[in-house]
Amino acid sequence: TATEPEMTYKVAISFDRCKITSVTCGCGNKDIFYCAHVVALSLYRIRKPDQVKLRLPISETLFQMNRDQLQKFVQYLITAHHTEVLPTAQKLADEILSSNSEINQVHGAPDPTAGASIDDENCWHLDEEQVREQVKLFLSQGGYYGSGKQLNSMFAKVREMLRMRDSNGARMLTLITEQFMADPRLSLWRQQGTGITEKCRQLWDELGALWVCVVLNPHCKLEEKSCWLRQLRKWGEMDVCPLEDGNYGNELPNITNALTQSSGHSQ
Ligand SMILES: [Zn+2]
Repeated sequence: TATEPEMTYKVAISFDRCKITSVTCGCGNKDIFYCAHVVALSLYRIRKPDQVKLRLPISETLFQMNRDQLQKFVQYLITAHHTEVLPTAQKLADEILSSNSEINQVHGAPDPTAGASIDDENCWHLDEEQVREQVKLFLSQGGYYGSGKQLNSMFAKVREMLRMRDSNGARMLTLITEQFMADPRLSLWRQQGTGITEKCRQLWDELGALWVCVVLNPHCKLEEKSCWLRQLRKWGEMDVCPLEDGNYGNELPNITNALTQSSGHSQ
């Protein structure tokens, strides 16, 4: 809008075999979905591919330079960004000049402009830390204050990814499941012998239903299936993992519980 000051952000997008594999944006927006600037740049690149100049990876360009040119290049680079870059430049200089530093144990250096090699895994960028943080936050709110709704919208996202055969679907579901398993209330409920709360049970049901979709997916490879099976077994063997009916099996059946469960199962 007109009241907002105009801001310029630096956006970087890496892609590999038609998939966006990583994104960074100076706006600092933290979300599991791409910010508007990343989306805008992606659309620009798709609609006007000739406007984006194709360059050699920077490591190739550096290789063409001699000693003096490299010196000039680095000094100009540091001068152009000296407040941002100088601490890193000095740290790197110290490390390179110390013979037993870690940086001197490996040959070569990373090049973010080079793209991936053919046998590198390539998958769509997903901010794993952000998924973990959000699920943890929503679970800590116990499904209240709209957090249940938020979790359901994350489930819907997974469902959508599975429908598009996006491999991030199972990846995101794994991250969500890990956070569900790490929910501190699980061990509490187990100690107290109470079943998990109704709100929580519904979420666990949805989680289970999505895993069924993943494992029954006719397009997934056998090795992927055996990998998920191992993971699911591992979770299933953990003490805190609730049983299918949401209880821990060590309490007397409670009539109201049994009723809500049977109504839940008939959906
Ligand atoms: Zn942004």
